[in-house]
Amino acid sequence: MAILDTEQILLSRSQFKCELCGNEYDLSVFAVMPSDNSDNQSILICNICHNPKQ
Ligand SMILES: [Zn+2]
Repeated sequence: MAILDTEQILLSRSQFKCELCGNEYDLSVFAVMPSDNSDNQSILICNICHNPKQ
């Protein structure tokens, strides 16, 4: 499965919101390790959750 397909699935599943905090901005696909890059192994999260401040 292509990354783009996974992103579309995740966007649909999350309704265009971060799956952790609900943010609607700066969303990106984050693969949960170990990952096969499928939608079941990935989450859609925002840049804040992807790069949490210390
Ligand atoms: Zn977030």
